[in-house]
Amino acid sequence: MSIATNLNDIKKTIPQQVTLVAVSKTKPVSDIMEAYEAGQRIFGENKIQEMTEKYEQMPKDIEWHMIGHVQTNKVKYMAPFVSLIHGVDSLKLLQEIDKQAAKNNRIIPCLLQMHIAEEETKFGLDETELNEMLKQVQHDKYENIKIVGLMGMATFTENQIQIQKEFQHLKALFDSSKRHFDAVPCDNVDLNILSMGMSGDYELAISCGSTMVRIGSSIFGNRNYQ
Ligand SMILES: *Cc1c(COP(=O)(O)O)cnc(C)c1O
Repeated sequence: MSIATNLNDIKKTIPQQVTLVAVSKTKPVSDIMEAYEAGQRIFGENKIQEMTEKYEQMPKDIEWHMIGHVQTNKVKYMAPFVSLIHGVDSLKLLQEIDKQAAKNNRIIPCLLQMHIAEEETKFGLDETELNEMLKQVQHDKYENIKIVGLMGMATFTENQIQIQKEFQHLKALFDSSKRHFDAVPCDNVDLNILSMGMSGDYELAISCGSTMVRIGSSIFGNRNYQ
């Protein structure tokens, strides 16, 4: 199967209002170019250096999403071009993004990453931390970031009921935060993106209210990690 065929097959299963992020981490520029030529313009990477190298080589109408865990000291490398940062899970990181975005005269859209899985290893905020962060953002009035939604990853399991519960939990957190900010508007919060769903669970995620899916292996094939 070719990348273009995979991409078109997946697009047929995704409603129009749901955004597809093609996750190209570990894949060569030639693979990304194949997806680009098939019409894809949004790509997700999980390492800043790899994303920056690809950004430099690829057409400039691509939107690059950082979907991995972000180290504060590396934000500066992607600040000039990154379109959306999915994995914001601390105030310290948010402040650094704000600072680097200011240097580049930009407002960088961010998603807050929520911990919804059972596994200890996955990054993200719990409900209390989410509310504290939103309160802080409302209070501090950062000028160069905008919180545009939430992101989360379900537990790596075959248990569909469990995955569904985790997605429903994230959707509920999203809805309640959105209701709050609809009632008490804030310049740097505008919640309209719910990033959840990967190759194995994106259809379930969409049925639970996802507006953005991050799909890698079903488009580009399995990844080889050395
Ligand atoms: C790698 C990755 C994906 C894509 O995973 P696939 O199972 O290959 O679709 C999605 N989201 C995040 C955060 C990832 O790191």
